[in-house]
Amino acid sequence: DALNQSLSELRDIDVSFEFFPPNSEAMEKTLWKSVERLAPLKPKYMSVTYGANSGERDRTHAVVKRIYKETGVSTAPHLTCVDATPTELRQIAKDYWDSGIRRIVALRGDLPPGVEKTDMYASDLVTLLKDVADFDISVAAYPEKHPEAPNTQFDLLNLKRKAEAGANEAITQFFFDTSVFLRFRDRAAAAGIDLDIVPGILPVTNYQTLQRFAGFTNVHVPNWLHKMYDGLDADDQATRNLMGANIAMDMVKVLAKEGVKHFHFYTLNRCELSYAICHMLGLRSQK
Ligand code: FAD
Repeated sequence: DALNQSLSELRDIDVSFEFFPPNSEAMEKTLWKSVERLAPLKPKYMSVTYGANSGERDRTHAVVKRIYKETGVSTAPHLTCVDATPTELRQIAKDYWDSGIRRIVALRGDLPPGVEKTDMYASDLVTLLKDVADFDISVAAYPEKHPEAPNTQFDLLNLKRKAEAGANEAITQFFFDTSVFLRFRDRAAAAGIDLDIVPGILPVTNYQTLQRFAGFTNVHVPNWLHKMYDGLDADDQATRNLMGANIAMDMVKVLAKEGVKHFHFYTLNRCELSYAICHMLGLRSQK
């Protein structure tokens, strides 16, 4: 009751939605349906991921431009630096700035198999981008530690370097234990990290996919979550959606009560769950 009461008093909640470039005609349709459904909620921005394989940057750029053109919502391409030279990155950034893009999600990207070190980390990319133009910059943060970091303190200092290089906000890796996020936010504040720490919310629609993601991202899947999906038929999508929405709503309620004002949704190009959660947060479609 107390949670619902405080929810009804919420004001000024920001949301952002993350998509990935579609790679089939069916996925293309799903993406644009989702963009059209979510855009009237007037998100702070919509971001589009960027993969390492060739051609993906062009697709990221095309999707970002089209979202902006068709919805007027501010858009943010993700950009990784492991697979490009500083000269290439400067050119990409300049092109983005010239086409009106003002926010970039700046990432290192995953190391290619067999590679253990890189010349450029995300903090270096933030410095480079800020040198090209005065972008708003989001970076990644890991409440449960990045898999490669030797310890949490090392990883926190890395986040601090990204803040000092000029990032404005950090979007977290998804998580399920809200206390893990809240402790991380406290530790970041105690370390003097002057960044808005934005929880990355993954509304789960497919438990198998979740387990795969969690495996390579160092995200703990709690036993209670495992139990919730245990025994649900693979084709029982409606029930699984209800379950996913319920779990995410509970998380968002707790976080909102703890003062979180901006939620980032990993939509996986689907709109239903994110839309429902935003509605619960008090957001309504505006024409
Ligand atoms: P960094 O901040 O550079 O950190 C990477 C690792 O290196 C950390 O363990 C850090 O502690 C360590 N480190 C940093 N500096 C040093 C140093 N000087 N010496 C030694 N170690 C160091 N991937 C994609 O390919 N495309 C996407 O679109 C994409 N979007 C994402 C969006 C979000 C919100 C998140 C959370 C992740 C995303 N990723 C994406 C995944 C991301 O690229 C990987 O997690 C990647 O392995 C790390 O990227 P980073 O920007 O966090 O790297």
